[in-house]
Amino acid sequence: MAEMQARPTNFIRNIIDADLEAGKHQTTHTRFPPEPNGYLHIGHAKSIVLNFGIAKDYNGFCNLRFDDTNPEKEDIDYVNAIKKDVNWLGYQWHDEVRYSSNYFDQLFGFAEELISKGLAYVEFSNQEEIRSMRGTLTSPGKNSPYRDVSIEENLKHFHDMRDGKYKEGECCLRAKIDMSSSFMCMRDPVIYRIRYANHHQTGDKWCIYPMYDFTHCISDAIENITHSLCTLEFQDNRRLYDWVLDNITIDSRPHQYEFSRLNLEYTMMSKRKLNTLVTENYVSGWDDPRMPTIAGLRRRGYTAAAIQEFCQRIGVTKMENTVEMGMLEACIRDDLNENAPRAMAVLDPIKVVIENYPTDSVEWLDAPNHPNNEDMGSRKLPFTREVFIEREDFREEANKKYKRLVIGKEVRLRNAYFVKAERCDKDENGEITTIYCTYDDTTLGKLPADGRKAKGVIHWVSASEGVPAEIRDYDRLFTVPNPAAAESIDEILNPDSLIIRNGFIEPSLLESQAQQAFQFERLGYFCNDGTKNEAGNLVFNKTVGLRDSWAKIEPK
Ligand code: ATP
Ligand code: MG
Repeated sequence: MAEMQARPTNFIRNIIDADLEAGKHQTTHTRFPPEPNGYLHIGHAKSIVLNFGIAKDYNGFCNLRFDDTNPEKEDIDYVNAIKKDVNWLGYQWHDEVRYSSNYFDQLFGFAEELISKGLAYVEFSNQEEIRSMRGTLTSPGKNSPYRDVSIEENLKHFHDMRDGKYKEGECCLRAKIDMSSSFMCMRDPVIYRIRYANHHQTGDKWCIYPMYDFTHCISDAIENITHSLCTLEFQDNRRLYDWVLDNITIDSRPHQYEFSRLNLEYTMMSKRKLNTLVTENYVSGWDDPRMPTIAGLRRRGYTAAAIQEFCQRIGVTKMENTVEMGMLEACIRDDLNENAPRAMAVLDPIKVVIENYPTDSVEWLDAPNHPNNEDMGSRKLPFTREVFIEREDFREEANKKYKRLVIGKEVRLRNAYFVKAERCDKDENGEITTIYCTYDDTTLGKLPADGRKAKGVIHWVSASEGVPAEIRDYDRLFTVPNPAAAESIDEILNPDSLIIRNGFIEPSLLESQAQQAFQFERLGYFCNDGTKNEAGNLVFNKTVGLRDSWAKIEPK
């Protein structure tokens, strides 16, 4: 019972509960129907978590069905990437992967059935003529001259279409519904068109392909889907969904329900636009860590748990809205704050020489992997006479508010000793090149006996034992909350969306695995990219900062 209450609820789950209670269905069967024309994005995750989550919570089933009726835009690489992403998000589809193209023979048969019932006809008017006959939102359309051709002739024409006797665009099959319907999608919609295209599943078997509205409802029925969940732009099309199923001979009767799509600030979600970012090299690929794709988020260091949590937090409604990016970032930050081990890295290194520390000595210090979780264990950190700290963590002089290293003052090096800055060297441009310090050997793991306090705690990496690494400091790709509305991508690109830093990491990170996440102390969350750069160094990607740097600062 406790489990029942913990279940996230929404209007769709309420409908399912009512259907099950009324005995309308014995079980639930949902499906996730991506078109393999791009990678999955965070919007798809909303649909995946909804559909697969229902199957899981109701002990039902969820199919993965590729909606593959547009062979020119589709690709087997997208099929494979989508399967990988669904699995990675933590879901397994029922049985085999399905393809709408599995049903092309049956769909052809149902089209013949509609023609035989006088409910579909082959249209020979050209696109321009079809458009002018369609009417507008305020005026009815006109019947096509081909609407009343005999059933026999229509069947012959349709078979000729299939047999390759017509050119692309020469004719198409239309459902015969109502040219004066207030729903434009009911004004004799096209249900089959000619395309001489090789299909990733069916090869050259077909030169006619069914349209989405005809295919989707029938595929749902063939698969015994009970609740067909889609986004609100298909609301009107529900009439056509029902019309097709009402007019063909098929036992099962799925129903379509619509929910609002996810819109997320500072990103775009349409696969067509994402494809442009990839093909025009605005990003390095579909899995660029700045992309809102599942593959990009994974490479950025997002976990499946954080994406699932995000989908739970945003909920499922019929209300159109745009979610703040901070909400997605908060989910990964919450996850990593608890689960990511701590480590040290220096992104903008400046050398510190500890003059009273022995040369050539390496001391292996113990450092806890998590401040609040002893179970996460500890690691060994090499301490040496020369270390790197961040350039911004040192000033020759500063006021009391500056809690870092200043000449004449002491700070603690994280997990190590108190050090005091004595002096520094500069180059001919006045840039500081080396800082000279002394350390207090009584301060390892304890405070000095005389009660002295350090100004602050700063992170560091041994200069001789640390490892060079490329750290990719990612930020949002766009500077505006609604990039999809912009005229040109160039105007809204964030020039600082990727800053490459050649830093140093503690040597324990050499053991880390691809996508493994860490909190680099004081810097943020980073993950191992799983690749090496040209210099052969490990690459780490910034997932998110420790705090939301984009949050609006409220005036006091
Ligand atoms: P896009 O416009 O990004 O190309 P699409 O709807 O054409 O998206 P599909 O591959 O057809 O992409 O989508 C598969 C499923 O995912 C559909 O059921 C669709 O409604 C759902 N979906 C797509 N985008 C979103 C989104 N932003 N929010 C919620 N669900 C989405
Ligand atoms: Mg689509």
